[in-house]
Amino acid sequence: MRTRKSIMSLIVAKFGGTSVASPERIQMVAKRLVASKQAGNEVVAVVSAMGKTTDELLGLARAINPDPPAREMDRLLSTGEQVSMTLLAMAIEARGFKAMSFTGRQAGIETDGMHAKAKIHEVHAERIREALDAGFIPVVAGFQGIDPHGDITTLGRGGSDTTAVAISWGIGADVCEIYSDVDGVYTADPRIAPRARKLDAICYDDMLELSSAGAGVLQMRAVEFARKYQVIIHSRSAFSDATGTYIKEATPEMEEAVITGIAHDTSEVKVTIRGVPDTTGVAAKVFSALAGNMVNTDMIIQNISEAGITDISFTCPSADLKRAQETVERVLPEIGAREYDIDEDIAKVSIVGTGMKSSPGVAAKAFSALGESQINILAISTSPIRLSVVVDGAQTAAAVRCLHTAFGLDSDCIFEETQLSAEEIAAKMQKGR
Ligand code: ADP
Ligand code: ASP
Ligand code: MG
Repeated sequence: MRTRKSIMSLIVAKFGGTSVASPERIQMVAKRLVASKQAGNEVVAVVSAMGKTTDELLGLARAINPDPPAREMDRLLSTGEQVSMTLLAMAIEARGFKAMSFTGRQAGIETDGMHAKAKIHEVHAERIREALDAGFIPVVAGFQGIDPHGDITTLGRGGSDTTAVAISWGIGADVCEIYSDVDGVYTADPRIAPRARKLDAICYDDMLELSSAGAGVLQMRAVEFARKYQVIIHSRSAFSDATGTYIKEATPEMEEAVITGIAHDTSEVKVTIRGVPDTTGVAAKVFSALAGNMVNTDMIIQNISEAGITDISFTCPSADLKRAQETVERVLPEIGAREYDIDEDIAKVSIVGTGMKSSPGVAAKAFSALGESQINILAISTSPIRLSVVVDGAQTAAAVRCLHTAFGLDSDCIFEETQLSAEEIAAKMQKGR
């Protein structure tokens, strides 16, 4: 029978692709897990695929078929995490400790059938629990689950974070530790804004808004899940023991800043339909057709019409561009529009903070700062706790930095990369990742 008398904590520890990119790094992860177990904790590991494996598998599939079937794609992508889970289990065993790896299915992760962006609706964690009780360190493949037909699904890019939070909930963990190549959540991506400051704690609402605005440090679904089930996340570095950032319910001790952080997202594209007759029902026709073709539109801009003719622009994820193009080409003659063009080199830069609700003037300050830095705003959208602007992709870093400074977020220290190779950093800076 399991007793928790001598156990310090029940921990889920998730390691991202960079943290398990090589045999040496897998050994480092094993060492850390073993140390945690030796300290009296019960530990479950969740792993991502090694390094850029998922991108490589995507490339491989597209070389075979430019439009691979979603079911086969998920089956293929799930193998990346299945490689790292077994290697990590072997590395733990090599240190004289018991480990057992589990695929998403074996870990009891049940999802809906939406391939490539499946949602978890149940976690049957009995096998994990049994493995813990038998003294094993269970190692779970992130990013995957099983749908009602028994087919493998994946949870969207960065989805191992969500696996970790879901497992934490399933076993009632005290904390879900998300290890990556940064030591916590910063006020902006420190690789873009080196004066970004690490936060000690951030509330679920702010983190959710930052993640949905592109802060890749935590997957949005993971934060959503954590908020719903009150799972405490500790975002921290795989390369040091330093305390990172706690993501949890807002408490009075949390910093009371108007703006918590700045996020950027280069994964969207802008489509502009030109020469649109400014008549009733045109916008409805365009956006109904886009929705019907599963295009997730984000920002929408309609220019002032001249002589009854206007332009309509919208942004959408670049993954939806092909479907957006098909749709626009189909509706163009129906609505009597002239032409359309696509701008793939854009970035959405967002200012986030629950404090914005009660603080007017954020937009004015942001627009002035961007103007002074000669950054042209191509589109704007707002929510009660977020202001987003679209800018030219080449101005992404300049926009993030100037807003970071304008809202007083700059730290005196400069973020220094210590662990990653130049190649790894370059890969991280690629569009949309
Ligand atoms: P993993 O592969 O371990 O899941 P990710 O690459 O998904 O790691 O997440 C870590 C990266 O998130 C960092 O390398 C950093 O460049 C990026 N990032 C974006 N926004 C932030 C932020 N606000 N704070 C910290 N890191 C951020
Ligand atoms: N391997 C998947 C990805 O690259 C999932 C993850 O890393 O969380 O998106
Ligand atoms: Mg990630």
